[in-house]
Amino acid sequence: MTYSQKVLEDLKKKNPDQPEFIQAAEEVLEALAPVVDTDPKYEKAGLLERLVEPERQIMFRIPWVDDKGEVHVNRGYRVQFNSAIGPYKGGLRLHPSVNLSIIKFLGFEQIFKNSLTGLPIGAAKGGSDFDPKGKSDMEVMRFCQAFMNELYKYVGADEDVPAGDIGTGAREVGYLYGQYKKLTNRSEGVLTGKGLSFGGSLARTEATGYGLVYITEELLKDHGKNISGARIAVSGSGNVAIYAIEKAKQLGGKVISCSDSSGYIIDENGIDVKALKQIKEVERKRIKEYLNYHPDATYGEGSVWDNVTCDVALPCATQNEINEAEAKRLVETGCYAVCEGANMPTDNEAIQIFLDNGILFIPGKASNAGGVATSALEMGQNSIRSSWTFEEVDAKLKGIMINIYYHMKEACEEYNAPDNFVMGANIAGFMKVADAMMAQGIV
Ligand code: NDP
Repeated sequence: MTYSQKVLEDLKKKNPDQPEFIQAAEEVLEALAPVVDTDPKYEKAGLLERLVEPERQIMFRIPWVDDKGEVHVNRGYRVQFNSAIGPYKGGLRLHPSVNLSIIKFLGFEQIFKNSLTGLPIGAAKGGSDFDPKGKSDMEVMRFCQAFMNELYKYVGADEDVPAGDIGTGAREVGYLYGQYKKLTNRSEGVLTGKGLSFGGSLARTEATGYGLVYITEELLKDHGKNISGARIAVSGSGNVAIYAIEKAKQLGGKVISCSDSSGYIIDENGIDVKALKQIKEVERKRIKEYLNYHPDATYGEGSVWDNVTCDVALPCATQNEINEAEAKRLVETGCYAVCEGANMPTDNEAIQIFLDNGILFIPGKASNAGGVATSALEMGQNSIRSSWTFEEVDAKLKGIMINIYYHMKEACEEYNAPDNFVMGANIAGFMKVADAMMAQGIV
């Protein structure tokens, strides 16, 4: 058995109840095999064993009171995975499905993603099984305050800087930040995705979606194709999806779908971003409302991936939304590129189908890294007590995404697997973290 296989087997035995974490680790360890199994220095330093074990995992209770005076208790998480190259950094997810396995998979992915940005940020992830849907603003505020009442002990501008994720947008970040300041009396960049009036960065809201489209554009260009005129399918209708749709349309793409956890919309006239923002960002309603704006569009229940045909797929909703059968269907109906906006939206069997069929596939740790990269730019602006223009931040974001693409491409070519960006992204992300861990001794 090789070194990477041994570490994976041990990990499975130790964490039998964490399927999402094991899935993420399996993808990474398989991709790293050509590096770690051919150079004994990694095994000698126990590098993989250290890489797959979080530096620290914090779990705590979050008691809060709803508008009727009833007490609720949710569970809070912060998994500080790796600080080899900088302070812990990663979002907070608020969704009823949140558990330790999901937070660990996200924190683990974050190690390679953050490294790929080229910026000095370590990796963490957190969240809670709290569901913001259907809660009043005051309930969300009381929950966020209760969450921060414990979290503040473990975070700080040079220690750990959380951000948004599913269910955590500008409103939640604002409440979390307000409570941190109340508790510590410090005005510092402890969270990113803040409002523009208190240290937020221009272009952070757009960054993940725009970044996804910038790297997709580069991928297509590098393979003799063009985003302009391409038929593009998007899933989700949250922060990542909305701004991916907006940028893809600006570049001439024809975006024909979006979705939420209730159903999907297919609009052959092109998704109307203004209507989408009104429904999701302002009214916080279900995607079905889109029919009120465009009665000619189609609404269906179930997965968009069972129903849409496209040239380019941008899954932007959640983990494991594309399975093997859906991947086969996408291949058979002519899709030639899949770039992940969400984290791990494609399961490992589906990824194999894409790779076996020569589909251009970029994993989320590379293609959605624009969000955390811009968060790091927000940290930089906070540190120097300054702010940059939208154009400056957007230009830096674009440069970072193009660099990620070529860095990843170089890595897979070096290991004789051209266009295998799963291997390229993992190896390119790993090298910097591994060098830092080796240099810092057995810690
Ligand atoms: P949001 O909460 O803004 O939106 C999530 C979207 O996905 C919603 O439309 C939601 O629908 C849908 N969704 C969630 N769960 C499911 C499900 N089980 N089935 C179908 N649809 C679902 O989150 P974001 O846009 O911020 O995040 C989306 C993905 O992108 C996540 O994987 C996140 O980790 C990743 N990501 C986000 C970054 C960011 O900067 N925001 C950065 C990097 C990655 P509904 O409203 O019905 O729940």
